[in-house]
Amino acid sequence: MKKVKLIIIGSGPAGYTAAVYAARANLEPVLYEGFFSGTAGGQLMTTTEVENYPGFPDGIAGPDLVDKFRSQALRFGTKILTEDVVSVDFSKHPYTVKGMDTSFQCDALIIATGATANRLDIPGAREGEFWQRGVTACAVCDGAMPIFRNQPLFVIGGGDTAVEEATFLTKFGSMVYIVHRRDQLRASKIMQKRALEHPKIRIIWDSQIIEVTGDKVVRSVKIQNMKSNEISEHPAGGVFFAIGHTPNTAFLSGQIPLLDNGYIQVQPGTCKTTLDLVFAAGDVQDHVYRQAITAAGSGCMAAIEAERELSARGLSE
Ligand SMILES: Cc1cc2nc3c(=O)[nH]c(=O)nc-3n(C[C@H](O)[C@H](O)[C@H](O)COP(=O)(O)OP(=O)(O)OC[C@H]3O[C@@H](n4cnc5c(N)ncnc54)[C@H](O)[C@@H]3O)c2cc1C
Repeated sequence: MKKVKLIIIGSGPAGYTAAVYAARANLEPVLYEGFFSGTAGGQLMTTTEVENYPGFPDGIAGPDLVDKFRSQALRFGTKILTEDVVSVDFSKHPYTVKGMDTSFQCDALIIATGATANRLDIPGAREGEFWQRGVTACAVCDGAMPIFRNQPLFVIGGGDTAVEEATFLTKFGSMVYIVHRRDQLRASKIMQKRALEHPKIRIIWDSQIIEVTGDKVVRSVKIQNMKSNEISEHPAGGVFFAIGHTPNTAFLSGQIPLLDNGYIQVQPGTCKTTLDLVFAAGDVQDHVYRQAITAAGSGCMAAIEAERELSARGLSE
């Protein structure tokens, strides 16, 4: 089996940034960009305009930004494989990584497999319907877009994330409604207080959105009260899923410690996991910021840390 210095798993901003830094440091990285495991290129492939990535003052389409990351990684000699990693073996070093068609041994590994924003299957909210035309899963990313200004906005969820997203959206919407299936929020007490006391947040209890409708963009939502079954229609400018993310770690088969919420555990302020020469970058280890720029930043950190640790062991040449 061929041995390489560094394998990077994942092709979002974290994986590609790690590849740029590692390739420029002569680590000759091999990057698995994914196949069935989600869209190669990561979450940005599912969005239209990215307006908050520095360097693009007029914004840039998500897929175009990913294209640029990819070209930059290729320019410095990254070997990109269009496959999923199906398993890893961390029981002995060098580590073994098995893809769908290829297998390698590697001295160091960067896991940058991201997280998947959880969504509900609501008529009107699917791809090809109003997804990304008023329905989204990231208020911080999309909330400032003109289509949401001075509109009634609906947040689906009941945890801390839902309250955070709703609070953020109050800067833009005319009113923000949290639609929650139960009669109390799951959010922490302090977040509940924030939501309940905010003059621009209303909570619609015991309810679910059952349909999103509109023309070119979202115009209304149908809401069903789960106790009375009563259905009401409300004008709406946007619908935001805030029901958590699932970090993409299944292929690790429990070989690396995770936090209780499923994210990979890293040493504070670094991308070092608890395993020697195994690093994690981007959303797979970040349940706080979850942005392209922070993912890219941690990809850079992981590559620098990998290079330093490989050098210290005489494994970087
Ligand atoms: C709808 C939406 C809009 C967004 N808009 C913005 C925005 O405007 N600005 C912003 O800063 N952020 C935005 N974000 C957030 C941003 O996209 C993420 O924070 C960022 O993409 C995380 O990067 P990442 O590299 O960690 O992971 P991801 O982008 O999730 O990429 C992970 C990659 O790993 C691959 N992968 C997973 N498992 C395997 C495996 N077993 N083998 C091989 N490959 C694998 C996947 O295919 C994918 O390519 C948005 C997110 C969403 C969902």
